[in-house]
Amino acid sequence: MSPKKHPNKVIREAIEHALANGWHMVEAGSSAHCFCRLRCGIPEHSGHMMSIWSTPKNPENHARQILRKVRQCRPMELRPKDSE
Ligand SMILES: [Zn+2]
Repeated sequence: MSPKKHPNKVIREAIEHALANGWHMVEAGSSAHCFCRLRCGIPEHSGHMMSIWSTPKNPENHARQILRKVRQCRPMELRPKDSE
């Protein structure tokens, strides 16, 4: 199964970045404006989820929001204990 592609290149790259960092693509369901949802790989992190819009007014800005969210949690990346 291959993930569906977002029509906007900048957002597509942000989604690929998220997937590469252990995030998952979740079907958007019934919402017509929502392309999909992204959530981190840790089930307890209910706040690490965001909706990806199909046609955001400002794609660059939306892509930045995605990258910022992914930076909050990267399940694939094991952080050293002494990093904080
Ligand atoms: Zn998380």
